[in-house]
Amino acid sequence: MSEEQSFESFGLSEPVRRAVAEVGYASPTLVQQATFHTIAEGKDVIVQSRTGSGKTAAFALPLIDRVIKPARHVQVMVLCPTRELALQVAGEFERLGKFADVGVAPIYGGAGMQQQIDALKGGAKVVVGTPGRMLDHLRRKTLDVSGLRAIVLDEGDEMLSMGFAEELNAILGMLPKGRQALIFSATMPDAMSRMAARHQREPVTIALSSDHVAPDGIVHHAYFSASGGSVPDLLKVLEIEKPKAALVFCNTKAETEMVARGLQNAGYRAEYLNGDLAQNDRERVMGLLRDERVDFLVATDVAARGIDVPHLSHVIHCGFPESPEAYVHRSGRTGRAGRTGTAISLIGPHDIGNLYLLRLTYGIRPIERTLPSAAENRTRIEAARVESLIAAAGNVSDDAMVLAKRLLTHDDAERAVAWLVERFVMGVREDDVMPPVPRVSVSPSLTAAPEAKSEPRSNGRPPRERAPRSERVESEPLRKIEVRHADPKASDETPGEEVGMESLELSVGKREGVRAGEVARLLRDVGMLAKSEVGRIHVRDRVTLVSVRAEKLDALIESLAEVKYNDVPVSPRRGDVAEAPEAATAD
Ligand code: ADP
Ligand code: MG
Repeated sequence: MSEEQSFESFGLSEPVRRAVAEVGYASPTLVQQATFHTIAEGKDVIVQSRTGSGKTAAFALPLIDRVIKPARHVQVMVLCPTRELALQVAGEFERLGKFADVGVAPIYGGAGMQQQIDALKGGAKVVVGTPGRMLDHLRRKTLDVSGLRAIVLDEGDEMLSMGFAEELNAILGMLPKGRQALIFSATMPDAMSRMAARHQREPVTIALSSDHVAPDGIVHHAYFSASGGSVPDLLKVLEIEKPKAALVFCNTKAETEMVARGLQNAGYRAEYLNGDLAQNDRERVMGLLRDERVDFLVATDVAARGIDVPHLSHVIHCGFPESPEAYVHRSGRTGRAGRTGTAISLIGPHDIGNLYLLRLTYGIRPIERTLPSAAENRTRIEAARVESLIAAAGNVSDDAMVLAKRLLTHDDAERAVAWLVERFVMGVREDDVMPPVPRVSVSPSLTAAPEAKSEPRSNGRPPRERAPRSERVESEPLRKIEVRHADPKASDETPGEEVGMESLELSVGKREGVRAGEVARLLRDVGMLAKSEVGRIHVRDRVTLVSVRAEKLDALIESLAEVKYNDVPVSPRRGDVAEAPEAATAD
């Protein structure tokens, strides 16, 4: 390792050197090397570096070592998008400033105002907090920044995307003129550059791997399903990927609660984290995750932003994010500090556009994977049952053994065993006989085989064994309704012959297990068509013809271009109206 790359080359003071050694950092990360001297010299910087690259210490070290002076007043302000992140940054300042007499006061919403005022009176030199609460203190004059030397915007892009622009501008406007301004961000959207131009003086721009902001050690997987992020799909994915600990992202607060409940019901140790939780609950949940007493934390972007829990092996996008930046930020919660990690996305028809955008923007191209079909699932469940039945079988009398042998040689042995199983195994409470059967409920999906419906419901499992009713999981009844809806339209008329309609041809058909109801749904989900805009559907052997509202045809062909049905590209094209249909089918 060259001289340049060591902490020695920073010329750190003894107290900071000791703290770095105690924290256990052996050598500075790339961003720390790239920024230390510039920040130490008092210059403004804009730093773009991927998540997990050690940005916190990149600003904390030079600030503690060079910028902060002995005088007991607020000298450094750090603004972070969330309370959790503020606490983490405050913690890093405390650890690195342990021997340098750096008082740190966390300032964030949801915690007692008075407590924070006391901390400020106690002579803190560093304040770390969220923009809203920080502005509160400034306006109430409970925070004196007349001696401020540096302001840090940490995860600047995130603060902007969370709508903090106004607060940030207000805060920056209230700070003394000569202060140093440091902007750290994983991505650099235009709004961030504009804010920099407005509040910084001749900033030094340091962009590290801007083309590749996601951590190197992360593998990306994408599972396609009709329902996108439903709980049953998530459970299937967990069965396949077997993550030890994961952060599961949802797009809404309500979903976090629902998904966490779904995971708990399936026997996983899961909790949720969202902005509606009281501060002490949030801290409790984070504590559980850190202590590895919870394996799955289901969170919204906002609540989980910047969370640094080193042992997270997986990030799961249960709801796929709207923006590529959000994907990068979320995924950056795994693969921290050079570890490897896996980011998994559940992709529904609505998400395909955003997935494409992710590829265009960051060149991230998740490995496509398919969820097991209903049939595969069933085989697995059966295998688990056999295993557990064999395992559960205790000692039996010789008489019983003799009878069993006799029975097995009989022509009708199979039926007799089936009867025994039905009578004495399936009818009994499952826990009495069988250890947990993989709780994969079979929801129909684009990739599901047609047997989806035949998953036994009459297997005598007590009702509590089923996935909770309230959730999106139960798409079965929904599908039946949709199929019925599509059925009456199936007729001998060729699609496209109806007034104002044209024919769309998909190069998948009965052979690919295509069902009219699912095609109707696909067109409505992906093509954003109203029910009335989808007409007759003919599922033929190798193609499916659909009549759709003429004006929508071109857009539809475009939006279906990348879609696959049971792994086969649907290759949409304008259908040939003149061609007479074979027997019209819409199962
Ligand atoms: P970022 O803000 O870039 O996402 P963090 O500052 O949260 O990254 O750091 C990510 C992880 O790397 C943290 O767990 C931190 O303790 C660790 N880390 C930071 N600097 C070093 C270093 N020089 N050597 C080893 N680990 C480090
Ligand atoms: Mg950070």
